[in-house]
Amino acid sequence: MMLAAFVMCQIAAAAPPTTLLIRDSVRRARVPIVASTAGPMLRADALGEMLPIEIRPGAGSSYTLEVWGAKLELEAGVPVVRVKDRAIQLVAAPQLSEDKLLIPLQLVSEVFPSTVPNVRWDADSAQLVLSTPAVKQRRTVIVDAGHGGVDNGMKGPLGGGPRIYEKNITFSVANRLGQQLTARGVDVVYTRTTDTLIALDDRGRIANRAGGSLFISIHVNASSPAWKAKEQRAARGFETYFLSEARTEDARRVEQMENESIRLEGASTTSTEDPLSFILSAMTQNEHLRESSELAEIIQQRLSRIHPGPNRGVKQAGFRVLITASMPAVLVEIGFGTNTAEAAYLSNPSRQDVIASAIADAAMAYLERYEGRVKPGAGIR
Ligand SMILES: [Zn+2]
Repeated sequence: MMLAAFVMCQIAAAAPPTTLLIRDSVRRARVPIVASTAGPMLRADALGEMLPIEIRPGAGSSYTLEVWGAKLELEAGVPVVRVKDRAIQLVAAPQLSEDKLLIPLQLVSEVFPSTVPNVRWDADSAQLVLSTPAVKQRRTVIVDAGHGGVDNGMKGPLGGGPRIYEKNITFSVANRLGQQLTARGVDVVYTRTTDTLIALDDRGRIANRAGGSLFISIHVNASSPAWKAKEQRAARGFETYFLSEARTEDARRVEQMENESIRLEGASTTSTEDPLSFILSAMTQNEHLRESSELAEIIQQRLSRIHPGPNRGVKQAGFRVLITASMPAVLVEIGFGTNTAEAAYLSNPSRQDVIASAIADAAMAYLERYEGRVKPGAGIR
């Protein structure tokens, strides 16, 4: 607790930024800023995540960076960049670190905008904004089947009927969702493709590595043993969550239930309890709060057209699985496995197809709406 408070103070004391945000109309990525005695530096190759950058070594320790046809000539140890016939002074010399070229942040914030096409420096937010997506409309949706392996998730239904395990239903629906998205021309990355437990924190990391545009986690709800017996059996319907502080008792219940997997992750997990990285991750997800809630809204709308319901609405809670993903991310509770009728509905393959199709339509509607809103020239928000 003390440590967390200390860390928060450190952040509040406006430490220099540790990453540079680069965004275009489709994607955004963070490039780590490397602190050096000469000031903030960036690894030139790390820009490749967003920019079509070529780094060509020349004679000695000279390099040519080519971005969208612009050629920038640099030399390690020399604080000058040459572009065509111009020599531009840099605040610090490029450096070599473990064979990687480090360039001063100033090269990106001041020199790029006047020499490289399609880039602009947004001084207010200290972000590099690209007016043309480097990779044309590449869209990757991350599909996360909740639970797996030793973690069965919820079991149901209450009061008899064929037994269901959440992990099997989420797996089947997630696969169908992935197929539906692929059929709609979107790249899909699954966090798990077998009956295995992936640590909650790793699911977001998989998503980040894949450069996902969206993260959709599929789960099955369960009523609370604390409710009256009749209510426990009667509860049903679908709800979609985005990451934020839980606002209601019911959201806290679902948050607790879905975060429970952590206990089963055991020592093999790479999840870290480092409070700083946890807070930074939460801040990263914060950036996507509005988009995430919008995506949740569309999913609820689309599900309400096909799901017997009721529509339990868009909710928010502190889901561990959503924290590490730096992209709009939602968790869908597709129904209550504790309810006999809904457990049967959720385990019916043709119903699963319909649910998956509704969520896929929602994801497409979201992607189109989002891309429409941030088209180059329209200005980003
Ligand atoms: Zn779950």
